Amino acid sequence: MTGLPIASVLPAAQAAVIPAGMPLLPFWAVAVWLGACLGSFANVLVYRLPRNLSVVGPRSFCPGCGNRVAWFDNVPLLSWIVLRGRCRRCGTGIPVRYPLLEAAGALSLVAGLLRFGWTVHGLAAGLLLLLLLVIALVDWEHMIIPHTLTIAGAVIGLVTSVWAPPGLDQALLGVVAGAGSILAVTWVYKAVRGVVGMGGGDVMLMGMLGAFVGPWGVLAVLFAGALLGTIYAVARGRGRVDGSAKLPFGTFLAAGGAVVHLWGGEIFAWYLGAF
Ligand SMILES: [Zn+2]
Repeated sequence: MTGLPIASVLPAAQAAVIPAGMPLLPFWAVAVWLGACLGSFANVLVYRLPRNLSVVGPRSFCPGCGNRVAWFDNVPLLSWIVLRGRCRRCGTGIPVRYPLLEAAGALSLVAGLLRFGWTVHGLAAGLLLLLLLVIALVDWEHMIIPHTLTIAGAVIGLVTSVWAPPGLDQALLGVVAGAGSILAVTWVYKAVRGVVGMGGGDVMLMGMLGAFVGPWGVLAVLFAGALLGTIYAVARGRGRVDGSAKLPFGTFLAAGGAVVHLWGGEIFAWYLGAF
């Protein structure tokens, strides 16, 4: 067998967050509700962070009439359905992306818990999926990755790694490997092409992902992100790649990060078995 420390990306023994024998249905209901609330907060982050607005205040207001949205009109998913997508006062349309991101929040948390069970690993996966979705949306739309998101993510990754894979030592190594690898790529790119290819946001994002998937996983993320970005560039340019067009590289890294965190162990096992 190989000397590669693949244990860093394989599911390890897990600490359950619910005592054995407890009925799970109420917990799933809470997970859906909590996920929808996190998705609602994600809407605030997606809109306000790239515009340098505070994410804690003021409360949500209608862009049509400027009226503050009452708490009972700000209930995730339900309010949009009850109001049929319109402001109660002035009838201005509420974009469908709001309830969609709330639903995505619920799905993220449920998906993480389904994949890794009711464990710290499952909760971390759910939070990571939603965080990566927010990062992917913001980078796609604004070509920036707010440090607020990546720093918060790195803290979540490091803290949860105490009770979940890859373990704290591997998570710390992952932060260094993630940020270091993309810095190296940036330097090489700059030396070869004379332009800066990646931004500081990408470095921070890779450091954050390293905390969740460890040093070997984060190299797989870099590979996956580069592959997805290349496919996108080729498809958009109809085969012409001149290297000058800016790519929302963080969006592709986020997609790669989600895949590696959910299935990294299986991918590494298959790779090592295939060769
Ligand atoms: Zn209004």
